[in-house]
Amino acid sequence: MQKVTEKSLYKEASYLGKPQVADIRRAYLFARKAHAGQRRLTGEEYINHPLAVSLRIAQWRLDAVSVKAALLHDTLEDSGTSSSEIIKLFGQDVARIVSGVTNVTAVRLVGSTDDLFEENLRKMILVMARDLRVVFVKLADRLHNMQTLYALSRKRQTENARETLEIYAPLAERLGMGEVKGELEDLAFQYLYEGEYRDLLKSSSKYYKNTGENLGNMRSSILAELEKYGVEASIHSRRKHYYSLWRKLQRKEIAGDIERVHDITALRILVPSVRECYLALGAVHGIYRPVPKIGVSDFIAQPKPNGYRSIHTKVFGEGGKITEIQIRTYRMHEEAEHGAAAHWAYARQKSSGVNDEVLDKEGAVVSHKMEWVRSLVHWQEELRETGELLESVKVDMFNHRNFVFSPKGDVYDLPRGATPVDFACAVHTRLCRYIKGAKVNGKLVPLSFELTSGDVVEIIKNRTERPPSRDWLNFVVTATARKAIKKGV
Ligand code: MN
Repeated sequence: MQKVTEKSLYKEASYLGKPQVADIRRAYLFARKAHAGQRRLTGEEYINHPLAVSLRIAQWRLDAVSVKAALLHDTLEDSGTSSSEIIKLFGQDVARIVSGVTNVTAVRLVGSTDDLFEENLRKMILVMARDLRVVFVKLADRLHNMQTLYALSRKRQTENARETLEIYAPLAERLGMGEVKGELEDLAFQYLYEGEYRDLLKSSSKYYKNTGENLGNMRSSILAELEKYGVEASIHSRRKHYYSLWRKLQRKEIAGDIERVHDITALRILVPSVRECYLALGAVHGIYRPVPKIGVSDFIAQPKPNGYRSIHTKVFGEGGKITEIQIRTYRMHEEAEHGAAAHWAYARQKSSGVNDEVLDKEGAVVSHKMEWVRSLVHWQEELRETGELLESVKVDMFNHRNFVFSPKGDVYDLPRGATPVDFACAVHTRLCRYIKGAKVNGKLVPLSFELTSGDVVEIIKNRTERPPSRDWLNFVVTATARKAIKKGV
């Protein structure tokens, strides 16, 4: 692992502009002082950890608030710094993210008792859903902790690796952060399945090497062909992550035979625009015949549910060997690797003047915050249903809690049976005096309508205020609503 220096952070963060970098330096100096004298179990100075985490955040091109929060993310817990001090020096936003990360970190999912686990998981999702930047800092934190896991006791290694595989890697996947997911899985894999990991490393190395040579030849042929088409492309090979190879080998149709895995390595062609993706596809098929039936998948025309876009084609490559080729724009590549973080970064670029048309031509999708947050809530539900989270834990918390959304994507945690009136009172008790009607997921519903997780609730307001109707007492379930109605607010 390369050593992260203060300088390398400033260099990586230079896209934010000089004044911001100066401010980041201020956060660095504060964190260094706060952690002075502390060491990590690896023996290095503590400050190296927040430095590594913030470098990662800068590599994802997030805003300055996130970079500063990353530098400060362990100061509340480990060094007696107070939240108000962070507010005073770095502002509300930074402080909120730091305490969000601190809260999530305090939640130990693996090894906690059933009840605690339920409560904790719920808290964790709520904190993360309020500001996705908390999730990004947390994922960067987890990545670095996994890279330095060797320093921990055997027991902690197993616990952290399990938690990574069961919670953080799926979380990254949900957010479309493919590269992060792959990295986390591989890091956890070597601790949880030590023997299998070593065997796979050995048995696959020859295979990686052979296909590597083939790909080199194919790369030159394709580049030459693309030149005829006037397409400027960059081509590199990507290798499958070990954990995902291991999982694939266990599939029935593969039956452990590495020869049957066609995408163990693949060529990736990156081009500037969507149009050139299709030109490149034509060029590739001009040289290498696509494999019948399993040939082309167009995830640009039809993106995967998590937003992944790319064209995949399997062709008979060098020596008739089936080879996967992936074609996408640079933007799509960025998105495939960094998912929600890339979208977050676009939002920042947009506000600093990169126009829509450019982003569109390059195949960028600026998605709504709500989609990601809803996806988190959904993920929770799936975990509950499949019970895959922890075999021993019966997670029923989501049977009695609901996550519902305001039209802006703010998330509210309401008990089962809650109605639009309960929702309105949770937003603000005064809103109770303006309720005229309610829409759920865009449709008008009665005020006694029972909300369920994932619903988007919009309160239709009267122009003037009036006392809340006592009839509502027949169906509201929260104490807040009950009290507001009885008091007439
Ligand atoms: Mn940390």
